[in-house]
Amino acid sequence: MSTLTSAFPGSSGADSRAADFIDFVAASPSSFHTATEVGRRLLAAGFTEQDEAEDWDSEPGGHFVIRGGAIVAWFVPEGASPSSSGFRIVGAHTDSPGFSLKPRGDLAFKRWQQAPVEVYGGPLLHTWFDRELELAGRVVFADGSTHLVRTGPWLRIPSLAIHLDRGVNSKLELDPERHVQPIFGNSVRPGGLLQILAEDVAAENGLAPGTAIVSHDLITVDAQRGERFGVAREFLAAGRLDNLTSVHTGLEALLAAASDPPGDDILVLAAFDHEEVGSGTTSGASGPLLEDVLLRTAAGLGADLERSRQMFARSMCVSADAAHAVHPNYPEAHDRGHHPFVGGGPVIKINAKARYASDAGTVALFIAACAEAQVPYQHFVSDNRVPCGSTIGPLTATRLGIDTVDVGVPLLSMHSAREMCGVADLGSLAASLDAFFRMA
Ligand SMILES: [Zn+2]
Repeated sequence: MSTLTSAFPGSSGADSRAADFIDFVAASPSSFHTATEVGRRLLAAGFTEQDEAEDWDSEPGGHFVIRGGAIVAWFVPEGASPSSSGFRIVGAHTDSPGFSLKPRGDLAFKRWQQAPVEVYGGPLLHTWFDRELELAGRVVFADGSTHLVRTGPWLRIPSLAIHLDRGVNSKLELDPERHVQPIFGNSVRPGGLLQILAEDVAAENGLAPGTAIVSHDLITVDAQRGERFGVAREFLAAGRLDNLTSVHTGLEALLAAASDPPGDDILVLAAFDHEEVGSGTTSGASGPLLEDVLLRTAAGLGADLERSRQMFARSMCVSADAAHAVHPNYPEAHDRGHHPFVGGGPVIKINAKARYASDAGTVALFIAACAEAQVPYQHFVSDNRVPCGSTIGPLTATRLGIDTVDVGVPLLSMHSAREMCGVADLGSLAASLDAFFRMA
């Protein structure tokens, strides 16, 4: 064990972290790609992959399991024991809003070829117009083989010219069925979308020509690469910042802590799928995935149910998900006393209706982690007239009974096809999560 090497820059190195993050986002167009990319990085750092259908490996060292578009990684330190260890968990999610490709039935108008799509989660619809989009996810072929696929920039949802709707700037009304169906061709390359995709994937993978795609999980994503901007390049724009900012910083913190194990607690990174559609799936936060990993790891260390629950009582979870920064053009949308700022450090999220899981004890613990890491922190609370979002935090906390705090990197343009954050906040969240893993 402990042959782990960190593939990441340390807590300094904002430039290299931002560059690595942009690469990570580019490699992670769908939840399935994200789980695969996190797994690739964990393997490179010495973690081993666990097959859920095999005997569980609780030996000291790093492990991970991939279930669909979710991944859970855990690091067992030397000396981990049911009588003294707990779990230090960072939770996040791998999925982002967009448009899922419907099973069949390409649309067409005259010579336009159009992909039939269904809204996934809560995208800001107008931001997805006039951008080159790609399809990404997994497909299953008639021979039973499953392939991760991405098309590159095949699609676009074109907006209507202002000359044909003069009132559009004062009142944009979008029909989520009629107005969002992307074009992908004009019949120069004939065939249905899945047929064309099958031809390309078959050619790339040496499958027999004519092999058909029988089913798929494909989602549209912005095809444009992330980029830094601002007078000091202090901002970063990309798709899927909600919630790849948390997956990337959580992974960085896990690898840093695992390369220099701090104590006998088991360190966990849980990145779930389907948060944007309610988490009620086998790979979502309301499913059994994390509980399976914790109970099987505890059992592998010799814990019975009583000892496992004792380990849960020594555990804590940081639920990391993107947060709302104050918007300079819409200050009225924010609570008057809480204005999280891009570049101001991790945001601690609090909600009296328990849509975030934070409480006094867990908030104080996370503030102590920020102090230890020497990074600033901020608070978010909703204006009483504005219902806030939610996260995986209340779901895992309800299921497992493990104390949880909700935090995240402040964003503008959340659920846009292209969101923005501050470069410094990536380092601040990574450092605070690393400190959380190491706290005595
Ligand atoms: Zn999110």
